[in-house]
Amino acid sequence: MDSYIIIDGWKSNIRFSSAHIIPEYEKCGRLHGHTYAVHVKISGKPDEKGIILDFSILKENLKQIVKELDHRILIPKKSKTFSVKKEKDNVKISFLNKTYFFPLNDCIFLPIKSTSAENLASYILHKFLEEAALQKNIKSIEIGVDEGFGQGARISKSFN
Ligand SMILES: [Zn+2]
Repeated sequence: MDSYIIIDGWKSNIRFSSAHIIPEYEKCGRLHGHTYAVHVKISGKPDEKGIILDFSILKENLKQIVKELDHRILIPKKSKTFSVKKEKDNVKISFLNKTYFFPLNDCIFLPIKSTSAENLASYILHKFLEEAALQKNIKSIEIGVDEGFGQGARISKSFN
């Protein structure tokens, strides 16, 4: 038998509001924002207390990750379209025929190619795996990122 636990980011308040640009798409190539929610599903074998993973620890881990993203401009460090130049306390983002200047402190630089929901989910999954000390009873983890209500991406990793 397989059991899993789930956390719904909308209901558990694991959310962040951020601005981004996806230059590859015309409409998304203009600076705009979303409220995102992060969901998680973890399957595994309950321990002798009947618990796969403590909800409060799980939520604390996720809240730390989303806190860094909240109220920031998300900048994909690995973008092939953006040119990103730091100039003193500002960052200059250029692509196609546009240039944006942002205060450095308002930005977070992410090791992804674009700030799609898919890539944000992948980033959060990696970050979560780095920071969470997972027990051997965990079989798989799925992270979901909703970009507003009703649309989002999911990514999962299994352990053997
Ligand atoms: Zn968007």
